[in-house]
Amino acid sequence: MRRRTLLASLAATPLAATAARAAGTIKAVATFTILADLVRQVGTNHVAVTSLVPPDGDAHVYQPRPADLRAIAQAQLLVENGLGLEGWMQRMGAAASFHGVRVVAAEKVTPRTMTEDGKVATDPHAWQDPRNGVLYVQAIAAGLAAADPDHAEAYRDTGTRYAAEISKLDTWIAAQFAPIPPAQRRIITTHDAFGYYGARYGIELLAAEGLSTEAEPSAKSIATLVAQIKREKVRAVFLENMTDPRIAHMLASESGAVLGGTVYSDALSPPNGPAATYLAMLRHNTTLFVRAMTAT
Ligand SMILES: [Zn+2]
Repeated sequence: MRRRTLLASLAATPLAATAARAAGTIKAVATFTILADLVRQVGTNHVAVTSLVPPDGDAHVYQPRPADLRAIAQAQLLVENGLGLEGWMQRMGAAASFHGVRVVAAEKVTPRTMTEDGKVATDPHAWQDPRNGVLYVQAIAAGLAAADPDHAEAYRDTGTRYAAEISKLDTWIAAQFAPIPPAQRRIITTHDAFGYYGARYGIELLAAEGLSTEAEPSAKSIATLVAQIKREKVRAVFLENMTDPRIAHMLASESGAVLGGTVYSDALSPPNGPAATYLAMLRHNTTLFVRAMTAT
């Protein structure tokens, strides 16, 4: 009887899904490491998560590999950011063979726009505002519940608890910046990844590159930025883990600003690094920004 039931379910379910159920886990693919961590935090041991873009990788210009397409085809859940970040998913037809539950994590976010070269562009880096992180977690928890109804309640509970942790960290970050006079709250980064973070905590941001890393900054835009750093007495230039460090080094040496260290914008660090999780990333970035703003 048991065998017959198993055979019947084999006939009705794709093989990959059956194998996953047998192991007690579902397979999820996230486009980059920050989303993969959110899925891992909410899914705990019910989910095996793969990130397409690796730690310290650049989610703007990624080229999916054949192994990525196989992972997507076998997954029950696919989580992407949206807001135009992963243009390569569409260009590569990466999700053509995916038949599971698809989550656009930023779906409920109010997008920021910026004018770049006279054109209005949507800023995809919504996760840098922890209040958006909460919206991401809610979308992911709902997606997990849909992909794996057996554990729906666990995903909802864990999601609620984890969202509360994110909100608590948001309050902590706001408290770190509160004593710093607004004129000192200025940051230079290599690409414009901290717009949501800056809007949340009242920080003015300048960057060498735009919202994406697809175009290298021109000599003219670098010269303009150096002049601005000097004029506005910006103290520190930050390296980003996933962009070319030469840009930040050049900005610092030409403007006289100090290098404030490496912050994590679009990718987590490897597991043994200082930003191995979403919460660790927010804490690490905040600590470095505050240190540079308050250095005497
Ligand atoms: Zn970016």
